[in-house]
Amino acid sequence: MKQPAPTHAVDMLIVGAGFAGLYMLHKARGMGLDALVLEAAPGVGGTWYHNRYPGARVDIQSMEYSFSFDEALQQQWRWSERYAPQPELLRYANHVADRFGLRDGIRLSTRMAGAHFDEPSQRWTVQAESGESWSARFLVMASGPLSSPNLPDFAGLKDFAGPVYHTANWPHEPVDFSARRVAVIGTGSSAVQAIPIIARQASELTVFQRTAAYAAPAHNGPLDREFEARIKADYAGYRARNRRMHGGFGSLLPPNPVSALAASADEREAAFEQRWKIGGFAILGAFNDLLLNEQSNALVAEFVRGKIRAIVKHPDTAQLLSPTHTIGCKRLCVDSGYYDTFNRPNVRLVDINQAPIERITSKGLRTSGGEFEFDALVLATGFDAMTGTMMRLDLRGRDGLRIQEKWHAGPLNYLGLGIAGFPNLFNIAGPGSTSAFTNVIVAIEHHVDWIADCIAYLDAHGLHTIEASEQAEAAWAEHVNAAARRTVFLSCNSWYLGANIEGKPRMFMPLAEGFPRYADHCAQVAHDGYVGFVLQ
Ligand code: NAP
Repeated sequence: MKQPAPTHAVDMLIVGAGFAGLYMLHKARGMGLDALVLEAAPGVGGTWYHNRYPGARVDIQSMEYSFSFDEALQQQWRWSERYAPQPELLRYANHVADRFGLRDGIRLSTRMAGAHFDEPSQRWTVQAESGESWSARFLVMASGPLSSPNLPDFAGLKDFAGPVYHTANWPHEPVDFSARRVAVIGTGSSAVQAIPIIARQASELTVFQRTAAYAAPAHNGPLDREFEARIKADYAGYRARNRRMHGGFGSLLPPNPVSALAASADEREAAFEQRWKIGGFAILGAFNDLLLNEQSNALVAEFVRGKIRAIVKHPDTAQLLSPTHTIGCKRLCVDSGYYDTFNRPNVRLVDINQAPIERITSKGLRTSGGEFEFDALVLATGFDAMTGTMMRLDLRGRDGLRIQEKWHAGPLNYLGLGIAGFPNLFNIAGPGSTSAFTNVIVAIEHHVDWIADCIAYLDAHGLHTIEASEQAEAAWAEHVNAAARRTVFLSCNSWYLGANIEGKPRMFMPLAEGFPRYADHCAQVAHDGYVGFVLQ
């Protein structure tokens, strides 16, 4: 298809104005590049713009889930809670946009439709759905690993007479569930946060569960100001220590360096209990092999099931809420009163694993076990993760190679950053990188800095393009796979594997080797003149 001539030319086109896009724009401008961000939403903030369902908040502590690139920013910004709520995270994104004067480089309400690599000019022609187009030397996908909501194809969905909400696409106007009968489908992280709050508003809440979720308590509360002061006294040092942690966070509470199998039953119980009291992901570091060894994993899984049985009064409900898969294999949820919500008289749990949903009706839904009526439906059904957003684009590399063809069996790339056949295209925090296994802001800052260094290298050496080699991609796919095989992550149907989306190729997408090893690897590749990439 012949493309109309692009209307504007820039050095770098960035897709998405979430944290990745904001920092990439700031960094690019600092290098003297003319950069532009296209953002589909009418505001900045990415994930935190869209995921504004009741109870939405981050599951990494605020003092860690924030930018480190600017000392004045990290000193001056003040979080109100241990785990920041969505409105505060959105204010933070807006603050960053204003503070660094980024707004005039961001085109809001402009959804990218596709991009084609133009061989003669060695540039990308990027089209927006509005019909506008840009020519760009570099194309940076800052579109996020969890940005395409998964809307399952439930028969009859359009017949439902009441409102239907998706947690990842929540309305901006307040939603009032008081005196309403509400249904939630899904019990992942989003549902686990939303359910306790919806249950307090709604007259009745019915939760449709396909797979029970493990959740550890957040113990959220106001941020301890003494703790804040202590961190800020050496924020840079704290950030540096966190970057040497497996997930890019948690240096104040390193994993216990012993195997769960080497501890006595009493020692294990004490370690699990201590970490449960701390909350969040801490429990998965109670021993060093909980995510590596299924036997060790079974011990902590049983500890959490014991907690569920202790919290949930009705034994049948407790049983149904008790997951049977390995813990951590799907991302551990971090909750505030999730299990206890099922003790409320207005809340009921329905097993749609044994009795699947047959269809949505005008008044509710029907499963193979019965009919359910409600006034409003909340889909907490997650995302077409990691690849969904790029696979929906008309993205074509050299010789018209389409991304759908390139990734038909799963995402292929090198270091998660570059794709063979797609020169000068960089992907931030996507498949093949530690991505969602890391405090994602650490992952973002690392990728943006690497991309900036790479561009500086190209310019210093009079080079025009960089792209992954096919050999490096094949070896990297094996590397990502091998890292997953050393863990328990292949043992369940998670979005990491693409298993939540019907027909999606089953391939483990994030890199499970830990952020420090991955960052060292990326640094070595850069140090060695970008080996594994083709530079021209
Ligand atoms: P999710 O973890 O993928 O959970 C989706 C839920 O919907 C699962 O319970 C899933 O069941 C169910 N589901 C999906 N399709 C279904 C269908 N056709 N029929 C019935 N049930 C269906 O999605 P999420 O809760 O939005 O979270 C996704 C990720 O976003 C998290 O893992 C996390 O990384 C991030 N997140 C983080 C936070 C936070 O705490 N900061 C909050 C929200 C999200 P199955 O398990 O059986 O597939």
